Amino acid sequence: MNVHEYQAKELLKEHGIAVPDGHAALTVEEAVAAAKKLPGPLYVVKAQIHAGGRGKGKFKELPEDAKGGVRLAKSIEAVEADAKDMLGNTLVTIQTGEEGKQVNRLYVTDGVDIESEYYLAMLVDRASGEVAMVASTEGGMDIEDVAHNTPEKITTITIDPAQGFMPHHGRSVAFALGLSGALNKACQKLAKQLYSAFTSLDCEMLEINPLVETKDEQLLVLDTKMSFDGNALYRHPAIEEMRDETEEDPAEVEASEYDLAYIKLDGNIGCMVNGAGLAMATMDIIKLNGAFPANFLDVGGGATKEKVTAAFKIILKDPAVEGILVNIFGGIMKCDIIADGIVAAAKEVNLSVPLVVRLEGTNVAKGKEILNNSGLPIVSADDLGDAAKKIVAEVKQAA
Ligand code: GDP
Ligand code: MG
Repeated sequence: MNVHEYQAKELLKEHGIAVPDGHAALTVEEAVAAAKKLPGPLYVVKAQIHAGGRGKGKFKELPEDAKGGVRLAKSIEAVEADAKDMLGNTLVTIQTGEEGKQVNRLYVTDGVDIESEYYLAMLVDRASGEVAMVASTEGGMDIEDVAHNTPEKITTITIDPAQGFMPHHGRSVAFALGLSGALNKACQKLAKQLYSAFTSLDCEMLEINPLVETKDEQLLVLDTKMSFDGNALYRHPAIEEMRDETEEDPAEVEASEYDLAYIKLDGNIGCMVNGAGLAMATMDIIKLNGAFPANFLDVGGGATKEKVTAAFKIILKDPAVEGILVNIFGGIMKCDIIADGIVAAAKEVNLSVPLVVRLEGTNVAKGKEILNNSGLPIVSADDLGDAAKKIVAEVKQAA
């Protein structure tokens, strides 16, 4: 789960990390009020969307030469004008895709006099099972570009979570950023605080770009992105409260209401599967047969009729879906009950695309009988390979 910059900064502040003062705003009036609470004379008006690259972004509704989604403002009037420009308009950045994202919130912050910009991030390195700290002197830029053009300017330091953060990790980060004296010390302290925030908040990723050295030799987090492990959110109700559903895919939000694990993908074959492993295998085998899955969907172990119906509806809402493959192993849930659910759901949603069902497990014969006698054009399959071949063929034929 992702949060907005202003929310991430609130969390960092709670861990003693220095960020510029600022206030979130939903309206132009609130943006003006926010600026009035700051010392001035330099303010920064920042679009709050779940995507980076805002500074270099473009607003769809504004002229080509208009400023982007991060603007320096030298007066309250300028803050007001910028807020009017941004709120309600669509910001397109390298991370939003060309459809862009509507700006519904702003963050008005105290402007900082920058001496240098750095990059510092932390993420879970799945290969080593450790926390990786990534540091670079090339802050304020696209880190992907830095990694591509000048990989030697990126240093990765891994931290064994069993051992935790050690003083030498802090020294390595400060060294990688080329800092000396008081700034070097400040950086070591910051790295330790960030590690503590990262682990105690169950982060998946914490990126600071840029981390800045100010003209008066302070280290400040100027921009940050944080994402959290969804499976650990129950431990952090305050972070769950920060969820902004307008930033998420509506189908994914609906799926989470039914406790379905759904992720939209780019293909045309909708998948309904129980168990994440089986869902992955199903997607693989669809690809092996030359087509692409439209989604990942795990209905879970206890797939009830209600869940199956909700899953069908979510899959069918995607206009790209030209066929559905249901692949369910009846273990805890018996195949006949699942077949009943599929038939009822298919009738309820007026199924308009080919449907291939592969059932296996307890009461499979009974389940197949229910599908065959349903009067619906459901194609029954015997195994995974057979199911994938059949749905790909059905979709081709229908096209
Ligand atoms: P992003 O474009 O979404 O990554 O947004 P950032 O918050 O990183 O802002 C983009 C750039 O705007 C930064 O790299 C800075 O160069 C500049 N910027 C942001 N805040 C300030 C500020 O307080 N003072 C100055 N001088 N520049 C800033
Ligand atoms: Mg940034």
